[in-house]
Amino acid sequence: MPSLPVLVLNSGSSSIKFSVYDAAGGARTKRLEGAADGIGTNQGKFWIRNGNGEKTADKSPDLPSRVEAFALIAEALNSGDFPIPAAVGHRMVCGGPTVQHNQRITPELIDKMERYVAFAPLHTPIAVYIMRETLKLFPDVPNFVCLDTYFHRTIPEVASHLPIPGEYSAMGVRRYGFHGISYESIIYQLGDEVPERLVVAHLGNGASISAIRNGACIDTSMGLTPTGGIISATRTGDIDPGVLLFILREIAKSTSDANAAADKLETVASKRAGLLGMSALSNDMRNLREAIAQGNTKARLAVDKFVWTIQKWIGSYFAELGGLDMLVFTGGIGENDIATRAEVCSSLGALGIRLDMERNNIRGEGIISAEDSRVVVRVVPPAEDLMILNHVVRMLTTS
Ligand code: ADP
Repeated sequence: MPSLPVLVLNSGSSSIKFSVYDAAGGARTKRLEGAADGIGTNQGKFWIRNGNGEKTADKSPDLPSRVEAFALIAEALNSGDFPIPAAVGHRMVCGGPTVQHNQRITPELIDKMERYVAFAPLHTPIAVYIMRETLKLFPDVPNFVCLDTYFHRTIPEVASHLPIPGEYSAMGVRRYGFHGISYESIIYQLGDEVPERLVVAHLGNGASISAIRNGACIDTSMGLTPTGGIISATRTGDIDPGVLLFILREIAKSTSDANAAADKLETVASKRAGLLGMSALSNDMRNLREAIAQGNTKARLAVDKFVWTIQKWIGSYFAELGGLDMLVFTGGIGENDIATRAEVCSSLGALGIRLDMERNNIRGEGIISAEDSRVVVRVVPPAEDLMILNHVVRMLTTS
């Protein structure tokens, strides 16, 4: 089988990551990766690393918007140093109720997904912008969308349907779940070791937890938007709707325009809350750990709340799955924050979870449970790009 160069584009709220792989049969080789980071600031970063990990570009440009960020990437990809891709894979957080399957991108499909921008307001605008630009950049190359919501398609209706009046459900308001490509990549990496009853905690800037039976998702913590579920860096997670109404009424005292008030509320709930809001210090776990070491009580409470919500979700999944065989930590905090893993597991002994503190002293891949722990606890870094690549190769060869 000939080797296919595949471009993978993965945009976040303030970054665009890209990588080029060679895919030949089952073999995958990374040719390069890069990112434009810090979009919306004048302290952007743009870098490219080749397959050997050597930096071939390293700049600190102003990146006032996604336009400048993508222009840098387009310039690099068009420079002749890189192959014209055989296909492009795009990560998309949510395509709404009518686009739930990974598929080839057309201008009509982009319009359809854009209608549901309210379900992932930080991610959708940049993702659809990049899709349109990439179709212009490589007009003859097939582009495919890979959805974070795809992994959660197996969640039963009792979990996905929301207790709201039917007219809103008819508009697509339901629980979708996110981080799906990360979860899929964990299942892919576990291979034959996927147990019957699995819980995966994706703890990064955004954080979510999923209950998975025989490799299929049965429940996940995030909901209509990534703001729901467990608390995360800057998001409330699930919260009494009365709290949001209280804040909205406070905002309405000084904002007469209803849309402007809703925007302000969204900023409070998704950018100013969570670890940042509670600690009044930082959304970054490393800073919070440093502050805790110096006796900062707000940082301590924020992290305790984070840990407490994770424990509660794991407990409820234990009940939902009828037991637990494996717990996986992933994401920046899950992979690197030894203390968070230890704290989360500290009071879950009744579920059969026991960490080995020596084994837990790792960053990255490994089994961290004690020999006699009924539940295997492991750390598995996500491999989202690889997952997108696999989907693209499958769709390219079957389309
Ligand atoms: P994103 O959701 O943006 O992809 P990541 O998965 O990279 O985020 O996770 C970012 C989080 O990981 C931050 O809170 C950061 O503090 C945390 N993190 C990264 N490295 C470490 C580390 N060595 N120790 C503790 N936390 C870490």
